[in-house]
Amino acid sequence: MDQTKAVWLKKCKDYSRDSLEDVLSQIFEESGVTKDLRKGMTVIVKPNLIMASSPDNGIISHPDFVGTICSLVKKIGCRVIVAESSGGVYSIASVRSVFAGSGYFSAADKYGFELNIDCETSAIESPNAEVCKSFTVLKPFTEGDYIIDVAKLKTHSMMLYTGCVKNMFGVIPGLQKPQMHLRFPEYSKFGKMLVDLCESVKPNFSLIDGIDGLEGNGPTAGNKRHIGLVIAGRNPYDTDIVGAEAIGIKMNEVTYLRNALDRGLCSGSIDDIEIIGENLEDVRIKDFKRPDSKGLNLAGKIPDLIKAFDGCAIHRRPEVIQKLCIGCGKCAESCPKHTISLINGKARINDSNCIRCYCCQEMCPHRAIKIKKYIFG
Ligand code: SF4
Ligand code: SF4
Repeated sequence: MDQTKAVWLKKCKDYSRDSLEDVLSQIFEESGVTKDLRKGMTVIVKPNLIMASSPDNGIISHPDFVGTICSLVKKIGCRVIVAESSGGVYSIASVRSVFAGSGYFSAADKYGFELNIDCETSAIESPNAEVCKSFTVLKPFTEGDYIIDVAKLKTHSMMLYTGCVKNMFGVIPGLQKPQMHLRFPEYSKFGKMLVDLCESVKPNFSLIDGIDGLEGNGPTAGNKRHIGLVIAGRNPYDTDIVGAEAIGIKMNEVTYLRNALDRGLCSGSIDDIEIIGENLEDVRIKDFKRPDSKGLNLAGKIPDLIKAFDGCAIHRRPEVIQKLCIGCGKCAESCPKHTISLINGKARINDSNCIRCYCCQEMCPHRAIKIKKYIFG
């Protein structure tokens, strides 16, 4: 087995200590992660904490999943720091609030890892990037010796799927994320930027917490679904190909995976990946619900002209459900086009400026934004 090319697909029934230790220590041994790490190294762990959310909602990387990884790394004698920038403002108060609201302070005590609270940032230059040649990122990602990417298995209203590669977007501090949407409003360019970012930060190992995932209007407004899988590998793109396939999404439907393939960064198809553990056909969930923002899988099935037209028709528009909106303003704060205003304590979207990034739906803590379906825009 070539450890650099293999992807681990393992069943894990729940977040109990025994189940997690069993599966994750097996993956670390078989993949050679335990041999990579040396006493005294600083390991940075990047969970998906898109917003403060109870681990029971299926939105964030579960703190026990992350904590078990950290405890395995700690056993080797490494220092472990968990670092993340959620959506919204990046400040010490907001970082503390997200860690607290997601159970990460208690996990840090239980498993002995540190939380990155200080909000310092650094620049990374990426001369070989396709669309984005420099990034501002959270400082630990430029200073650590080893980076472990811990994503959550979810659908995504904008990108259709979110796993290891999209998870790295959280290394960009707070409100610089909407700025990236503004710079790269087309989905294909945004996907290229994600690949540029992933290549710049270069996680050494990637895992997906797919024990409970999120289906429907991910990454935050969907519904939890038990999947019972852990997916992991050294190549974040191949790991994502397997993660996406496990919930019925093909790699050619995900813009950043198509771009990674064009750059020769991933396998050409799911059949080219050596999967260790479960047989994919036995564990794939065929009826995993897709976001309302996405239509049928038309990739490769219809001519380009119709596809372009389909883009207009399928990318449906966000709409505020007035009775659920409490006027908190989080959608307006995250809207890259500043096209949301608060009028009489309710959010209102000016559709003419909207770029269909769906950050508003993503950041609304009250599920007050739905994607309105219409056929001929
Ligand atoms: S739509 Fe959601 S995020 Fe926006 S103001 Fe209303 S409750 Fe807040
Ligand atoms: S209204 Fe929503 S979907 Fe439209 S640009 Fe703003 S955040 Fe993006």
